[in-house]
Amino acid sequence: MEALHLHRVLLMPVSQKTSIFLRASGTPLSTLARPPLRWSSQTCSARAGWFLGLGADSKKTNLPDTVKAGDPVLHEPAQDVDPNEIKSERVQKIIDDMIQVMRKAPGVGLAAPQIGIPLRIIVLEDTKEYISYVSKEEAKTQDRRPFDLLVILNPKLEKKGKRTALFFEGCLSVDGFRAVVERHLDVEVTGLDRYGAPIKIIASGWQARILQHECDHLDGTLYVDKMLPRTFRTVDNMDLPLAQGCPKLGPR
Ligand SMILES: [Zn+2]
Repeated sequence: MEALHLHRVLLMPVSQKTSIFLRASGTPLSTLARPPLRWSSQTCSARAGWFLGLGADSKKTNLPDTVKAGDPVLHEPAQDVDPNEIKSERVQKIIDDMIQVMRKAPGVGLAAPQIGIPLRIIVLEDTKEYISYVSKEEAKTQDRRPFDLLVILNPKLEKKGKRTALFFEGCLSVDGFRAVVERHLDVEVTGLDRYGAPIKIIASGWQARILQHECDHLDGTLYVDKMLPRTFRTVDNMDLPLAQGCPKLGPR
């Protein structure tokens, strides 16, 4: 999920052709000078649109591309990580790559399918800096508070209560757009941390939204599948009023 309203991150798309992903079924990831392979085992052309959030520095890395909307793979469900594999070099590298990709974008969350890995892994964090890009009033309405990096494997999300809210959200796989999505305000997520230990997160407000957005990715669901369609717009048009008949933003 994108660090919302962070207009300055919209930089030039640059294609990157140095990563290779192999099927989740065993072969370790490696970084060879070949185009990415997905678990469909079809070779595909390197995807343009990778946001180089930090400019020239990123050219030195071998970070994976983010898969963009339009690629049907984003609508495929991901598989559980085998608990016996969590400490493997391969899974640990996937996690490290995900954290780096999320931070470089920058975004507040990322799911493994977004870098072409069909495994149930999500990472998320929100920082004082990101939150400072929205007004204090907006952050308060969104109930947005900083939280430390979370890495969750095989997350199970449970919506708590009936309270929901309507807000714009974005996604690193849907460059340059936003739409209003209704999300629950309270969730509980259980899963495993990056060392395989059980964790439980009780989240509310914006953190609950991020968790729902990222867990949706693992089920092959993008926010555009759930959005209020007439609210879909480009980032540049964020300040324009909602179309007639659209419900008001905020908690319901
Ligand atoms: Zn997303």
